[in-house]
Amino acid sequence: MIIARTIDTFKEAKKILTGSIGFVPTMGALHKGHLSLIQQACQENDHVIVSIFVNPTQFLEGEDLESYPRREEADKKICELAGVDILFMPTVEQMYEKDELHIGAPAIRGYVLEGQKRPGHFDGMLQIVMKLLNLSGATRAYFGKKDAQQLALITQMVKNYFMDVEIIPCDIVRDESGLALSSRNAYLSEEEKQRALSLSRSLKRATKRIMSGELDSKTLKQEMAEVLKETDKIEYIAIVDRTFNELQKVEIGNTMILIAAWVGKPRLIDNIWI
Ligand code: AMP
Repeated sequence: MIIARTIDTFKEAKKILTGSIGFVPTMGALHKGHLSLIQQACQENDHVIVSIFVNPTQFLEGEDLESYPRREEADKKICELAGVDILFMPTVEQMYEKDELHIGAPAIRGYVLEGQKRPGHFDGMLQIVMKLLNLSGATRAYFGKKDAQQLALITQMVKNYFMDVEIIPCDIVRDESGLALSSRNAYLSEEEKQRALSLSRSLKRATKRIMSGELDSKTLKQEMAEVLKETDKIEYIAIVDRTFNELQKVEIGNTMILIAAWVGKPRLIDNIWI
């Protein structure tokens, strides 16, 4: 595995790759969720590139940019063992210049839910993903459904800017107890972890109720809020279609239920696609 820390070494390393390229962009502190994306990329492509870059422009003032978990040595081993060809770990200086050209998230879909709570987050995210996709020259790029709105916006960016890469949505990986894996779970104490389980529990409960015929969004949200009382603060419970329009009634095959809630230090998100 080649480790590239500059654009030049990355471009040089890429020259020896022939055939299809699968690309998995991450912010590191890799876990089994990331690994499942990497493994799928390995299965479906001749070569795989992983990037690790804690992108400052997608963190808002007061968010956890400085304390975001960094585990470079462990990450390198995970990538090496998984069969990654190039691990790209650039510095901020390599990725940005002072007077940058900016791309922005769409005015509606980019400013609801996560975009409303974290205004500007998606602009920074799209900026770096655009750069990384262009640099990687990937045939396919892999993103988790865990960040459902991110996935939708990247898919839209690729469509709107006629970018020649296929975006592959990947299922959410959870631990045995149901908690969606996240690098930010590292912030949770044991007690908080137990309370964090209420996120997946509320989604399971809603799914069960939908399967037994309850399709009314208001009722479902109220029931979920009961389960989510264990968190410190619910930021939103949303029932939307695949293009993020609010739904009064669940449409089987076209619905996502999305949650954001605080438990201790981290703000956690989770969702289920119905
Ligand atoms: P991050 O390092 O958090 O920016 O995540 C990098 C990629 O991994 C994104 O596409 C995430 O959606 C995806 N990802 C993170 N956690 C999970 C998970 N538990 N299951 C599946 N994909 C995930």
